[in-house]
Amino acid sequence: MILERLFGDVNPLVLEVLERALGGAELSVDDAVLLLETGGADLQALMRAADVARREDVGDDISFVVCRNMNFTNVCYVGCSFCGFARHKDEADAYDHPMEELIEKGREAVARGATEFCIQAGIHPNKDHTHYHEVLTTLKEHFPQVHIHAFSPEEMDWGHRKSGMELADYLRWLVDAGLGTMPGTAAEILDDEIRQTISPRKLGRDRWIEIVEAAHSIGLNSTSTLMYGHIETARHVAEHLALLREIQKRTGGFTEFVPLGYIHERNTLFNHLGARPGASVSEDLKLVAVSRLFLRPWIPNIQVSWVKMGPKVAQVSLMAGANDFGGTLMEESISRESGSQYGENLPPEQMRRLIREIGRTPVERSTTYEVLRRFDDPAADPPSLEPERPQELSGPARWRLREGDSDPLKVHAAG
Ligand code: SF4
Repeated sequence: MILERLFGDVNPLVLEVLERALGGAELSVDDAVLLLETGGADLQALMRAADVARREDVGDDISFVVCRNMNFTNVCYVGCSFCGFARHKDEADAYDHPMEELIEKGREAVARGATEFCIQAGIHPNKDHTHYHEVLTTLKEHFPQVHIHAFSPEEMDWGHRKSGMELADYLRWLVDAGLGTMPGTAAEILDDEIRQTISPRKLGRDRWIEIVEAAHSIGLNSTSTLMYGHIETARHVAEHLALLREIQKRTGGFTEFVPLGYIHERNTLFNHLGARPGASVSEDLKLVAVSRLFLRPWIPNIQVSWVKMGPKVAQVSLMAGANDFGGTLMEESISRESGSQYGENLPPEQMRRLIREIGRTPVERSTTYEVLRRFDDPAADPPSLEPERPQELSGPARWRLREGDSDPLKVHAAG
């Protein structure tokens, strides 16, 4: 009776697809399009089904990785229309960090518990493959224990073309210098018609596939990503997911899938080229839920991007098919430059709180999803390693703590 009231108005076609997905059948592109266009009760049924699939696939833990982003230069002339990060080298806020600065950032990150450096940057016209190599050897020399997750396929394309080497040899040369895994970014939507509008000078679909498959073939694993909420349709998304699933069947080299919502405020794609103003919350949830059902069992880890969707929508997405909270980041700037308002850093203690608020267990993982620490008991949590910052309070001054006070209500209520 109650089930009839809860699910009686769900489209029977949607129910049939969900039933097949939960039964372990592989969904088609048409199935994914149907699910991506759901709303109302259909969307709620989709989220519930994806949550059940998530529990069956990977259990109830929610993982995160303690990492630091390092964007060593924002100089880039590729000109992607969705990018608010790139600068011309003569602009006042262009930067190109020397190695000493990267080492200093690395030192600070390790003191804050980082196990990973995530390194991506602009395509600086005056740099070549030797610079990427030097970044790796320098950081590895100082921090041999830290995993280096670096260089998008766009950066790999640039470095490889400069190097004159065979692609697999070039990638192996970087692995020998300390590269651990590769971000599967620069994918956006793997459709050349869409790419022609959003990033006409970026590597094309086939080159992205070539680089990712070459990486996987030498044991260099990568993430997989998609950018949604701009000019793409549900079919573009479904075909992109199908392509990732096919690559994964061939190589097994994707560690996870990360849907990345487009941030629109400060870039050309929205302001001049007519893109949608990013994804709605329901699109965020659908992307996560459909990814879970469509990519199972090939890609078991579905990650939320708290930078793009914000920690609260990320929490809901973790109840709709996702199982990974991503990285703490420490210094996020690429999304911020496009208008994201969700901050640059989500410390481990906040990750743990957000995960526990939805009744799940936080787990710190390595880049490649080995469990490093479980946090079953909040009372046994380690102390924060974050640098102390002065707290900014507002409200009537008489209600605020003064030096040496412990209880503002008792001390100053009458003051
Ligand atoms: S997205 Fe990357 S490649 Fe494109 S303009 Fe921005 S920094 Fe350059």
